[in-house]
Amino acid sequence: MHQSITFSRFKLNTFLACQRRFQLRYLKKTPWPIVSADPQWEELMAQGRLFHQLMERHFLGLPDETESSPDAVVHHWFRLFRQSGLRLPAGRLLPETNLTVPIAGHYLTGRFDLLVLGTEKGQPFIHVFDWKTGRAQAASELRQDWQTRLYFALLAEGSAALLEKGSSIRPEQIRMTYWYVSDPGRPRTLQYDLSWHTENWSEIGAIIAQIQTGLDAGDDPVWPLTPDWSQCRYCPYQSYCDRRDSDTTADDTDDFEEDVPQPAAAMEPTRP
Ligand code: SF4
Repeated sequence: MHQSITFSRFKLNTFLACQRRFQLRYLKKTPWPIVSADPQWEELMAQGRLFHQLMERHFLGLPDETESSPDAVVHHWFRLFRQSGLRLPAGRLLPETNLTVPIAGHYLTGRFDLLVLGTEKGQPFIHVFDWKTGRAQAASELRQDWQTRLYFALLAEGSAALLEKGSSIRPEQIRMTYWYVSDPGRPRTLQYDLSWHTENWSEIGAIIAQIQTGLDAGDDPVWPLTPDWSQCRYCPYQSYCDRRDSDTTADDTDDFEEDVPQPAAAMEPTRP
């Protein structure tokens, strides 16, 4: 029977970091233990979640509960956002929106912090906003980031689900802004286009095809171990691969599809 997989950016990142880890985690569903929790990181995770909840409430037009937030850091971040003067285009606001599209018998999925759907010069557009509480990245890094690539691909292929019946969007009508608490006055905006989408979609398709080849080989073959041993240092599957390290800390970011700061050496290498 065909095994259909829904790929988030975390799953794609995992496969690209180490195919064996992907096999153990997502195909064999091998337990993913928190070997030792880092209290500081746990706190950053919680603050990231709270900040995203505040932003969602803000864009839903719900009462501002910031003043009652017991977390001074989150309070400060939200104040930075309000003071930053980030300009949103006029349009329909869709905070915390999921989108899933089919690809070669599988699915790609993503959750957007905020989508703005509008019209400029008679043409529809979609503008994605993403709130970042971690390390700020340059636009050149963000172009390569799987979050950017997946979000653009999802919208270029699946935006019909968000638009009025009969409407469509070209890649040139999609853009994305990252806003960082650590650099609130300099949002990074990226513009998608057809040639990027052609290349992007083809590369995503090639990765899915590679995974399908592994699936077609059945359960027995061990998928390739990463040649990059730095990936193993914080991997809880070391004992499966004879790559033990006594200083192991694992995170479980798949349960949290929003932006959160990452520990110094996290499992998902391309996240801030
Ligand atoms: S220990 Fe290393 S080789 Fe084994 S699954 Fe983890 S990252 Fe991959």
